[in-house]
Amino acid sequence: MSTVALQQDVAAGLERVQRRIARACERAGRDPASVTLVAVSKGHPVEVVRAGYEAGIRHFGENRIQEALPKIEEATAAGIEATWHLVGHLQSNKAKAAASAFDVIHSVDSARLLARLDAAAPAPRDVLLQVNVAAEPQKQGVAPDEVGGLVEAAREATSLRLRGLMTIAPIASDPEAVRPVFRALRLLAERFEVPQLSMGMTDDFEVAIEEGATLVRVGRAIFGERTS
Ligand SMILES: *Cc1c(COP(=O)(O)O)cnc(C)c1O
Repeated sequence: MSTVALQQDVAAGLERVQRRIARACERAGRDPASVTLVAVSKGHPVEVVRAGYEAGIRHFGENRIQEALPKIEEATAAGIEATWHLVGHLQSNKAKAAASAFDVIHSVDSARLLARLDAAAPAPRDVLLQVNVAAEPQKQGVAPDEVGGLVEAAREATSLRLRGLMTIAPIASDPEAVRPVFRALRLLAERFEVPQLSMGMTDDFEVAIEEGATLVRVGRAIFGERTS
């Protein structure tokens, strides 16, 4: 695809998603400025990141360290000044690399990882705790009844700022089916008094916004199907 066609495609995808966000906010009586769109660029090359940046995207999400590090480096060298969010699972042994490359880490799910990140962070980093609300065996994240302990540990960290909670909803053909998952995350965030809720992806971000999402992580609806 030519650069021009790519830019038009990404700009059109972004505009559609922003309109959908605005409509969901209207339904929920929320200010659209209270929802940050994290554009998930995993599976796409840096040219796609550039097209997104030129369309106005300032928050990008990646889910794998190996893929993200060279991409972030290349994008930064090319003058792209964005906030980078790690949305995928993070192993403790990659904490150092993650803490230097990413501004926000959405996937903290153990005290061990938290400690590694705290020790490695070169500057204060924002973190969210990933919760496996639906208790799916194959999913990462702490169980809802373990959130309190991890919140306490996160508040004791010196180089990390606990910003909120994150969840990945189960795959469902009807997004209404996962509304209770988003609602449960919101109740947990209220109970532990953390402001941010990272929830909602291409198939369910509107329901997530209606339930209070402040960060939505959207890939395919902006960039199309992933190329790798
Ligand atoms: C890939 C991914 C997304 C974006 O998914 P889409 O379906 O492309 O919107 C969001 N969150 C996480 C954790 C992901 O891995």
